Amino acid sequence: MSKTTRAAVPNDDGPSPRSCDLAPLPVDHERLRRAVREILIAVGEDPDREGLLDTPDRVARMYAEIFAGLHTDPAIYLQKTFTQKHDEMVLVKDIEFSSMCEHHLLPFSGKAHIAYLPNGQIVGLSKLARVVDAVACRPQVQERMTENIADLVMTHLKARGVGVVIEASHSCMTIRGVRKPAAMTITSSMRGGFLDNPATRAEMMALVFGK
Ligand SMILES: [Zn+2]
Repeated sequence: MSKTTRAAVPNDDGPSPRSCDLAPLPVDHERLRRAVREILIAVGEDPDREGLLDTPDRVARMYAEIFAGLHTDPAIYLQKTFTQKHDEMVLVKDIEFSSMCEHHLLPFSGKAHIAYLPNGQIVGLSKLARVVDAVACRPQVQERMTENIADLVMTHLKARGVGVVIEASHSCMTIRGVRKPAAMTITSSMRGGFLDNPATRAEMMALVFGK
């Protein structure tokens, strides 16, 4: 393992963002409210009973929050880079996120790990966490999320390589359907040096999953 590898949690500009720590998206609140009311009626509930009176409003506000990434370009977080001679791997691990499975509109949540091999340019560590947020806060599938993050970092940092690993629990698998509460889904996307060099990839995996 390289001595100059650094594994870090994002901390360079304040606490790491929790999921969807973005300005709420302007949504068609009234339309959402009507739709939620319709769902309640369709499943045989009485949307006018006391406990459900404010639910359509509440859900509409919640959707504005959890889909706030939909009109955020994650690339904006990778615009400001710093010149730094650092040839070895940079890894930010355990970036917590929550997203919404686009097939069931149920949450999935877990951790993202992002490693890259700089090419003379580095980015603030917390910016990688913000990229995860912007990509996560929209209707999503884990596979696409993993690919997107890898491509964003590769393109905008002009990195020599990028490795992204995401591990998540999907509530569409845990609370319904096959009901496997302990199942974790792990996806990875490797680019450049992480794809071509098994040792680099192994080093990342050891740092992410090693005890
Ligand atoms: Zn699903």
